[in-house]
Amino acid sequence: MNCIFCKIANKEIPKEFIYEDEDIMVFPDINPSAPVHILIVPKKHVPEMIAVDDPILFQKIFQVVQKMIKTTGLTGKPHRIGINGGGLQDIDHLHVHLIGQMSRKAEL
Ligand code: AMP
Ligand code: ZN
Repeated sequence: MNCIFCKIANKEIPKEFIYEDEDIMVFPDINPSAPVHILIVPKKHVPEMIAVDDPILFQKIFQVVQKMIKTTGLTGKPHRIGINGGGLQDIDHLHVHLIGQMSRKAEL
């Protein structure tokens, strides 16, 4: 499948991860819209949020989102968590944007 995030997950495309475990990878957004802009991405190909059929995956993703809020120093600081779907997304492989330290509401 010609999916850039699958290629990153299976190391076809090299990418330095901020965090990685068996199921999840985290790396900086290539086009950041705020001082912190990272993507929390399941390694497994899921096209978008509505297609998730395993509640455990939600748990895994959002546990890592919490962890990333802490490790990027965003606890108690302005941040936003966003998931595009329904065709608004550019990349059809589920990813959660964590955007922080913005001075105004960031566009996702
Ligand atoms: P979305 O509109 O939610 O699908 O957003 C896709 C995001 O992925 C955008 O913010 C892009 O800047 C980002 N992006 C695209 N390609 C890469 C890449 N190779 N590495 C990191 N971020 C990427
Ligand atoms: Zn994929």
